[in-house]
Amino acid sequence: MSGVALVSGGSRGIGAAIVRRLAEDGHDVAFCYRSGAEAAREVEKKAAESGSRVFSQQADVTDPGAVTELFKAVRDELGPIDTVITSAGIVRDRPLAMMGADDWGQVLDVNLNGTYSVCRAAVFEMMKRKSGSMITLSSAAGVQGNATQTNYSASKAGIIGFTRALAKEVGRYGIRANVVAPGFIETDMTSELPESVREQALARVPLGRMGRPEEVADLVGFLASDRASYITGAVFQIDGGILG
Ligand code: NAP
Repeated sequence: MSGVALVSGGSRGIGAAIVRRLAEDGHDVAFCYRSGAEAAREVEKKAAESGSRVFSQQADVTDPGAVTELFKAVRDELGPIDTVITSAGIVRDRPLAMMGADDWGQVLDVNLNGTYSVCRAAVFEMMKRKSGSMITLSSAAGVQGNATQTNYSASKAGIIGFTRALAKEVGRYGIRANVVAPGFIETDMTSELPESVREQALARVPLGRMGRPEEVADLVGFLASDRASYITGAVFQIDGGILG
């Protein structure tokens, strides 16, 4: 199945690489972003060079009304949605002793509630059509926990529970749901880390380097394809060996 794919947070980083990968694999691709309209245009232009139709729209995943509007626009523009990838995510790192309710709430709201809103908007139509695939972006932090990331780790662990439960719920409708849990990937999210933190993080990677967004996108491209037709409820680590 190629068909129509929707990626949340497709204007930068891993999401942008997923948009390009899926377009090259023959999917028509829609994506949303929160505020980076210029970056989104660039991604749209580059991905469309593959010959696939590519469509982007500003939509904050924490706003359920905006997500509903997004799905309506995508269906009008490209048709029914076959594949959903939730990549929109943020970090607000602090030790718990200094973590205010805002830092806690914003991260849970974008990462976990945003995943719920996007999958929720997709699932009913997929159930009616008796096919579909959802791929959620968790993190190695969601599996093992990272110091100064209680909010982020909780949101990413929640995504694993959410996706596994969803896979059990919708399997009988022919819908697959899987989790991709990246380690330390070269994007804006990690470029802002202090040098000492980067060095410590790299020291934990057996392959000795950060991953590239394209490497994560290749895994997502596989999971979105018919070659993954018997895979559901699984968590795929792509972390250079961090989790072992
Ligand atoms: P990134 O480079 O910071 O890009 C984040 C993307 O999400 C941007 O397109 C951003 O759009 C969008 N976004 C953020 N908040 C949003 C919102 N409220 N509504 C809609 N879109 C929103 O991040 P990344 O490193 O590619 O990470 C992508 C995913 O992989 C995240 O879920 C992240 O937690 C996960 N991950 C990343 C790493 C890593 O090492 N980079 C490791 C493990 C997991 P704007 O630019 O418009 O804000």
